[in-house]
Amino acid sequence: MNIFWFRRDLRLEDNAGLYEALTSGKPVLPLFIFDRDILDKLEDRDDARVSFIHGVISGVQQELHRLGSTMVVRYGKPDEVWQQLIQEFSIENVYTNRDYEPYAKERDASIKALLANHNIGFYDFKDHIVFEKDEVTKKDGTVYTVFTPYSKKWKAKLSTHLAEYDNPINGDQTTTSYYFKSYPTEKYFQHFYKTEPQPLIPLNEMGFGASSIAIPSKEVSLDIVRTYDETRNFPAVNGTSRLGVHFRFGTISIREKARMAEQLNGTFLNELIWRDFYAQILDAFPHVVGNAFRAKYDRIPWRTSEEDYEKWKVGETGYPLVDAGMRELNATGYMHNRVRMVVASFLTKHLLLDWRWGEAYFARKLLDFDLASNNGGWQWAAGSGTDAAPYFRVFNPTSQMTKFDKQAKYVKKWVPEFGTFKYAKPMVDHKAARERCLSVYKAALK
Ligand code: FAD
Repeated sequence: MNIFWFRRDLRLEDNAGLYEALTSGKPVLPLFIFDRDILDKLEDRDDARVSFIHGVISGVQQELHRLGSTMVVRYGKPDEVWQQLIQEFSIENVYTNRDYEPYAKERDASIKALLANHNIGFYDFKDHIVFEKDEVTKKDGTVYTVFTPYSKKWKAKLSTHLAEYDNPINGDQTTTSYYFKSYPTEKYFQHFYKTEPQPLIPLNEMGFGASSIAIPSKEVSLDIVRTYDETRNFPAVNGTSRLGVHFRFGTISIREKARMAEQLNGTFLNELIWRDFYAQILDAFPHVVGNAFRAKYDRIPWRTSEEDYEKWKVGETGYPLVDAGMRELNATGYMHNRVRMVVASFLTKHLLLDWRWGEAYFARKLLDFDLASNNGGWQWAAGSGTDAAPYFRVFNPTSQMTKFDKQAKYVKKWVPEFGTFKYAKPMVDHKAARERCLSVYKAALK
């Protein structure tokens, strides 16, 4: 038999690696590992992402039971789990989809080596993004580190392949190299390994409980996508897709949504290109985890005030848009992109706190937390990243509110005491904080 190992691709439909496994000629046994190397590091026992994944796995397992198969679900450290699986099953090959995070790359390399010692093949495929780092490159073959030329090349590459898709060489669109192709997995569902249902480990046996945070739907209204360019900047408007968490865990297919974006709204497609962009940056420059992309930014002497950090975390800075964003994040696991930019700028520039502190807090709280995009967003805000705006561009959180939440609808939703004497006074003066930031950055970067 072959095993298909699910990770951040938790769906049966249009799944590249699963398609390859199901068409390999051997029965396929699906597997998911609740990875202790990841779970043990989570701070919150009611982490909404864990209960979300658990629910999704349960659903996929039920679907497989209906097909006369199952999903083997294990809880442990991947190398130990794999040692056991090798003893338990007669495995020929393992199929999976690629993950570009440093931890995942290291894990996969070690599992691949372990499997090779037992003459078991390990095959991985692209599923999580549209283009990988070697597919959209500069003329000299190196990775783009600036978004605009990258996105142009990305789109150009796509249109070349669109032509190929319209005139498939062998008549079967699934086998062309068109990058938005769908993988018709359903057609091959009879190739799942037939076996008795397997149990699913309950959340509490892994030390987790249910979360009260709701997960946004994976269905997005087409109207939201159609008008995305007009509405996406206004946090009081329901104008973005909220699909982030589903892209993160692969409960939807990036190819399907990118196809939709291509037809409906170029600005929305552009955001999906940002996602590819940051994934390839992380893949090519893993030092961005824990270090500034531009090394000299690591010379900035960040302040270390835990007290200020705490005020920012709970949304008590006295800057309404910042406070609304942080409170939305704490209550829902979500924050609007415009507001993410404002709170990140406020932490790094107004408070001069290390962008890694902000990155870590987002990683803990965001449902759609994704190492590549989160790191990219934070380094962008701090000025240390790939596509960074010049450091001396400091967002003014008050004028951002005037521009994007003029009637204070969003602010009032999350900061009910706004406008009353109970509301916190600004913890720093904008002008003074801006000047402090500019002089500290300037001195450090010269
Ligand atoms: P939409 O606006 O509907 O966009 C559709 C999809 O495009 C998103 O779901 C996401 O997959 C992708 N996307 C949109 N904007 C970006 C972007 N700037 N960079 C990369 N991908 C993008 N996004 C994450 O997915 N995970 C993160 O951990 C994350 N952390 C961020 C941290 C900071 C400091 C900043 C400024 C941005 C961060 N973003 C992150 C990017 C962006 O804010 C979110 O993707 C977006 O707000 C999610 O909401 P949505 O699903 O409604 O997105």
